[in-house]
Amino acid sequence: METTILRIEDVAAQAAEIAAAGAILRGGGLVAFPTETVYGLGANGLDAAACAEIYRAKGRPSDNPLILHAADRAMVDRAAREVTPLAEKLFAAFAPGPITLILPKRAEVPPSVTGGLDTVGVRLPESDIARALIRAAGVPIAAPSANLSGRPSPTTAAAVAADLLGRVPLILDGGACRFGLESTIVDCTGDRAVILRPGAITRDMIAAVAGAADFDPAIEKQDAAPRAPGMKYTHYAPKAPLTVLTGERAHLAAAFRREVEKRQDAGETVGLVVSAEMRAALHDLVPPTLMAIYGAQGDLVAMAAHLYEALRYFDDKAVDALLGEGVAPEGLGVAIMNRLEKASGGRRIEA
Ligand code: AMP
Ligand code: MG
Repeated sequence: METTILRIEDVAAQAAEIAAAGAILRGGGLVAFPTETVYGLGANGLDAAACAEIYRAKGRPSDNPLILHAADRAMVDRAAREVTPLAEKLFAAFAPGPITLILPKRAEVPPSVTGGLDTVGVRLPESDIARALIRAAGVPIAAPSANLSGRPSPTTAAAVAADLLGRVPLILDGGACRFGLESTIVDCTGDRAVILRPGAITRDMIAAVAGAADFDPAIEKQDAAPRAPGMKYTHYAPKAPLTVLTGERAHLAAAFRREVEKRQDAGETVGLVVSAEMRAALHDLVPPTLMAIYGAQGDLVAMAAHLYEALRYFDDKAVDALLGEGVAPEGLGVAIMNRLEKASGGRRIEA
């Protein structure tokens, strides 16, 4: 299959191209498109055959449910049977934006889309390209991240192409994604908010609106079974095995130095996914081409935005192992550490 990559500079001026992409979706085809979180691989979320194409293109396990994306609050009602009072509060506070709410599903949503669950994840993206595309399609759009299953989510059209070229007819290129991590997922089926996947909308932000918010135990404890089925899979993984180093900043550089030296002595070529400060501290040990910077220390917004690109940077480099710099698990740092843990399969060194 030939893949067209179409740059979208101006949604209004390119209305005809967006309409054509919407027609592909309505007709059962796939379109990859940018959102403010990561790039999504879209299909008509009410069409089981179209969604089956998503699972095929990504190589995604069939029990991992898809999130449905709506253009406006009214379209949410085509996916969800009931929007609970808790969900109304969270939509009012954070939608459109990087938050997905789990709600009771409508019968019209095929069971294959929700992994057989009686609930559905719904999100209202903020990206103007995403909204225009969904509006053009006229139906809720199922859109998991536009990567091969298990790989880091794409935050640029080039990263989508690296995984899906030849597997999808159309990729809309809207430049780099603003947040760079997948949406926060909140179970809103009860009266208490339960966060199933951390993201840019943090626990404190949700608690401020909902009165309280809990993390699904699987977010804090690795051996608990997650309630978001997709969270049990190895995810976001770069091609070379990643180990994450965490601890006090004062000790972290020394721990990196020891670990790099040990591995280099063993003949390994090591790549680093680190802060600008850590690069400066280790510049005598590792060449600049083997260090991907994902932000300045403490700038969690930048680190979230650049993490996946930093992991993907090494895809075509001859490295035996990657070492990644962890962050304090607070605020947005919870989401960054959650992705680093999954990307590393839990391999971690505490400084
Ligand atoms: P992705 O679209 O790649 O960001 O993955 C979607 C994530 O949402 C996966 O971790 C799913 O397990 C989770 N998810 C989707 N629908 C539901 C649902 N009804 N209940 C719980 N988790 C869900
Ligand atoms: Mg994904």
